[in-house]
Amino acid sequence: MQPTLPIKYTYKVTDIFYAGEYPFEEEQDDGLPKLQKLLDFGIVHFINLTSERLTEYREFLPKHCTYTNLSTVDYTVPSFENLKKTHDIISQSKDKVYVHCKGGHDRTGVAVATYFIYIGLTVEEAKERYLKVSKPVKGRYPHTPLMETQWKVLKEYQKWLADHKTETHEDHDEYLKLPDGVSILPFQEGVLCVDVIPYTLAKENAYANAGELWHEKTFYVHNNVGHNNAAVVCPKSTDPTNKCPICEYIQANQSNESAIKNIQPQERQLFNVIKADEPDKIYIVNQTYRTLGQHIDSRIRNAKDNEHFEFFAAPDTWTKEDEKEYGKPVKAGTPKGMTMKLTINDNALVDTVNFKPRKYTTKKLIDKAVNLDKVLIVHSYKKLQKMFGNGIDTGE
Ligand SMILES: [Zn+2]
Repeated sequence: MQPTLPIKYTYKVTDIFYAGEYPFEEEQDDGLPKLQKLLDFGIVHFINLTSERLTEYREFLPKHCTYTNLSTVDYTVPSFENLKKTHDIISQSKDKVYVHCKGGHDRTGVAVATYFIYIGLTVEEAKERYLKVSKPVKGRYPHTPLMETQWKVLKEYQKWLADHKTETHEDHDEYLKLPDGVSILPFQEGVLCVDVIPYTLAKENAYANAGELWHEKTFYVHNNVGHNNAAVVCPKSTDPTNKCPICEYIQANQSNESAIKNIQPQERQLFNVIKADEPDKIYIVNQTYRTLGQHIDSRIRNAKDNEHFEFFAAPDTWTKEDEKEYGKPVKAGTPKGMTMKLTINDNALVDTVNFKPRKYTTKKLIDKAVNLDKVLIVHSYKKLQKMFGNGIDTGE
């Protein structure tokens, strides 16, 4: 059974997302009871998409409420920045959000339809879902639910979001503290030949033995945290005894797909590498597991018996015992391991990974490698709670 909605031209999009007409009236006496109905219904966040002069209701909101004005001229489409801001607020909120314009139709309709794109549906699915949820207000206006120009926006927004995502993922500064002079290696379309240089594991690494050599550092990042959309290292991923308020929130809100979608921990890996054309300079590769790590793993799994690509990064560290157990690390005559050859497509994603024999030893380079156990900025539980803001209960 549908729960009763508080005011007439309103509809439910999800458990926390409601959309509809202006929540106030021209005269305060009529406006206040209308607004009160929405407050009684549990609306905490109000997002106003109008730009015309209407009787302002903001001053009547109680302290626990927030108000955001993302003004859009009637019969036009909200900017993608404003749409994303709207969707970010919804996805980060655990309280009910009310998105409205004047009539609750065109501008609000676009914000609702594009929300389904934001949570990952296809254009067709988004259209279908929009038509379904907006049924209660259909027929209020003579024309079709959304104008054709506005339907086009779904596809455009999908592309804009994809482009925008790549940008934010390249912003590593937030959680990485690299030594002076060491920079991130950007992934651009084309062929990239790099040598992965192992580093000496530090005692800070909760998952391995200090002093040993290893070639990558795996960790998890929560993106889109708090109002600044920060990217933060999940503290659980660097030490299993740490607690993470964001993971706890995800655990407690499993049923609220849209609220947790954009903060799910994302697996990433750091590598020390040198480029073939700059053999003395260490770069850091910071990529999601999906972009790079899984391609490396799959190439190693599919190697021939005598190839032993699994030791591609650290052949110089082979002991006699290793050799007894696994055989020679690479083909006879090339005991110096493998360089990695990546082909990268125009979306900055890796298409193929290959290995070829290395012609020199990495021994000297190992001393230059950045200690990857010491470059991640991991915030305390309290600090993360604060950054996460209203997405989480800060009370006991
Ligand atoms: Zn976490």
